Amino acid sequence: MEKILCYSCNKSKANLSLVKSTLLGINLFLCESCKSEKLEPRWVVIIAGRQNGPESVKEFIAKKRYNGNEIAASELLI
Ligand SMILES: [Zn+2]
Repeated sequence: MEKILCYSCNKSKANLSLVKSTLLGINLFLCESCKSEKLEPRWVVIIAGRQNGPESVKEFIAKKRYNGNEIAASELLI
């Protein structure tokens, strides 16, 4: 079977769960640690910010509930 990577941290983990994104109406494969920390993939935060406005993802950015580089305000603008 093909290995699925965690959508948030991009690591191959033994256990991935299908979690509904709180920002976008899509399902995500998340590992246990990303799931328990309620992280969303960085690209989901950016897409949601572009679709629904930076205000909608403010909390995610303030609490850094994503992996990877800091999301700049300019990335939320189209
Ligand atoms: Zn993960």
